Amino acid sequence: MKTIIEPFKIKSVEPIRFSTVSEREEILKKANYNTFLIAADDVLIDLLTDSGTSAMSAKQWAGIMDGDESYAGSRSFFRFERVIRALTGLKHVIPTHQGRAAEKILFSIVGGAGKSIPNNTHFDTTRANVEFSGAEAVDLPTPEGKQPGLIADFKGNINLEALASFIENVGPKNIPLCMITVTNNSGGGQPVSMANIRAAKKLLQPYGIPLFLDACRFAENAFFIKKREAGYADVSVRDIAREMFSYADGCTMSAKKDALVNMGGFLALNNDDLARQARNLLIVTEGFTTYGGLAGRDLEAIAQGLEEILDEHYLTYRLRSVEYLGDKLTAAGVPIVLPPGGHAIYIDAKAFAPHIPPHRYPGQAIVCELFRVGGIRSVEIGSVMFGKYAPDGSLLSPAMELVRLAIPRRVYTQSHIDYVAEVVLEVFAGRSSLRGYKILEEAPVLRHFTATFAPL
Ligand SMILES: *Cc1c(COP(=O)(O)O)cnc(C)c1O
Repeated sequence: MKTIIEPFKIKSVEPIRFSTVSEREEILKKANYNTFLIAADDVLIDLLTDSGTSAMSAKQWAGIMDGDESYAGSRSFFRFERVIRALTGLKHVIPTHQGRAAEKILFSIVGGAGKSIPNNTHFDTTRANVEFSGAEAVDLPTPEGKQPGLIADFKGNINLEALASFIENVGPKNIPLCMITVTNNSGGGQPVSMANIRAAKKLLQPYGIPLFLDACRFAENAFFIKKREAGYADVSVRDIAREMFSYADGCTMSAKKDALVNMGGFLALNNDDLARQARNLLIVTEGFTTYGGLAGRDLEAIAQGLEEILDEHYLTYRLRSVEYLGDKLTAAGVPIVLPPGGHAIYIDAKAFAPHIPPHRYPGQAIVCELFRVGGIRSVEIGSVMFGKYAPDGSLLSPAMELVRLAIPRRVYTQSHIDYVAEVVLEVFAGRSSLRGYKILEEAPVLRHFTATFAPL
């Protein structure tokens, strides 16, 4: 087979700034060893997140110029609505300024004290919005989903047995809806199978519990189904995506992922009464029903992005570019979460730097070293992000210590990815000299954004 190439040519470029190791040592020190506090101009390759970092196409930029900025009844809204209806089959389409705004509106209506929302794995903003409403957010991943080294096709699935007993225990009246996140972001960007979505719907239906998709990466998920699930090899990704949505009564989406834009989102659903309540809230918190916190040009770019994302040449390149980095690291013995997910590679920091205990933050040590050696920005997903303190002051660590290398869509080329692999391998070769970190100052919640560190 020939090399899978970037399915685009480049019309507009943005220079990246080169720096030396000693300059980066200064930059790290000034940022108190927290890569969130580094200015983006000081980063060579930015793999902090795939959210809102996509490169838009010429057609999307043309849409930005062509957007209709009418307050009510904008032509761009009708295009946005038409594209989302055709894709999801859902009746009501409600624009929001990003994914969490759709979550806030949905859970303000259906959440509240005494309610429980199951999900394969809640993304952090989804969990926060469920909990903020007073409801309980419950993760029901499968046992395979919890084993980083285990190779399986659909490690993002929701655990159906656990869901069945959850419904029996909590009672269907207390479950306003069930969510499935595609792909399962917090679970490593792992896909969910069509069989799993279908079976979840079948399980929920007799109880009258609606199924909602957290659809941020629906196209990447659909393409995994095409590649891995029996019976789908010859089905178009558009039809696969349509079938996924056909089991859903609604969805929330951050357009900053698979709609290839820098800002935006939506809530879509079938229930008329719920839609009426959602639109009333939207007007209070986001804006009128035909723009919901977005400019007409944003709606236009999202509509165009939702068409482009289903291009199978794009998805072939997208999944391959993530897998390509994973293959290079795996071949050199670097421990990563396997198999590679749709949008990121996750380094297993516990296996990478076993001499650094969780309370000395092995993931943070790797994040800082990737920046020092190669100017690459990544993010720790482990004890810095999720650590809590026991009453005696000791650190309670999550199960995994990970470093995420998220790949922005259509932004970097194969040589950038080759360079990233070289830097990771250099850091891996010198791993025995990595040293841990201590936290100097931290906020009471979401401390990873602002905490300051010092090397030990
Ligand atoms: C990004 C994301 C969200 C939240 O979307 P924002 O646009 O960042 O508010 C929700 N769920 C998942 C799975 C995500 O990846």
